[in-house]
Amino acid sequence: MEKVFTTHNQQNKRLKQNKIMLMKHRNILKRFVPIPEQSKSYVSLTFDDGPDRKYTPKILDILKGFKVKASFFLVGKRAEKYPDIVRRIFEEGHDIGNHTYSHPISPIFKHRIIEREIKVTDKIIEGITGYRPRFFRPTWSRWHINYKKMLNTAKGLDYLSVSWSISSIDWLGTEKLIKHRVLNRDINHGDIILFHDGAEKALFPKREATVRVLPEILRTLHKRNILTFKLSELLEKQDRSLA
Ligand SMILES: [Zn+2]
Repeated sequence: MEKVFTTHNQQNKRLKQNKIMLMKHRNILKRFVPIPEQSKSYVSLTFDDGPDRKYTPKILDILKGFKVKASFFLVGKRAEKYPDIVRRIFEEGHDIGNHTYSHPISPIFKHRIIEREIKVTDKIIEGITGYRPRFFRPTWSRWHINYKKMLNTAKGLDYLSVSWSISSIDWLGTEKLIKHRVLNRDINHGDIILFHDGAEKALFPKREATVRVLPEILRTLHKRNILTFKLSELLEKQDRSLA
């Protein structure tokens, strides 16, 4: 009679042998192909102050090439001016956030005015995409006296305000600086990286450096096993850096 069952000892011996074989195999493979680590980091790329007629389509092309979804915080009056670009951002599956109508940076804060800025932008984006945005990004940085006030206004309108943990300082327009700020550091799980596709009230209105450096940034992040997701996906994975 053919033996169909192995004894417990035989089974253990075989498992042990398989394990040794697998380890040897992994070591050989390691020399040629990096074995992906179990723990991957998830980060989010965000683009502010657009849409821009020239730079937003270029950024969308790059993201499409890398099959990456990002988040765009749109300025209402620019969205009004370039509805086709807003539609493209939406149709290509990126998140769209509200970044006020006129990008106010005045030191005088008026709750009523900011509320109107957000509501008008809401209507514009919803009119183009059919959806009310869920995320809001203040026009002041978190160190500004008005930041909290703006956050509260957005909260009153059921918005989830999203800051950033890494600023590329791409508005200065130098590739070297962007690479240094984004790649020359430890990137942690849940980091939210800030870029600009538009140039609302910027001292340096060109975004050429952002466009030129983006492919290298994406390649490097992916090589480091850091995966990029849009905010709504990142939110499902964790809730860090969200106010
Ligand atoms: Zn802005």
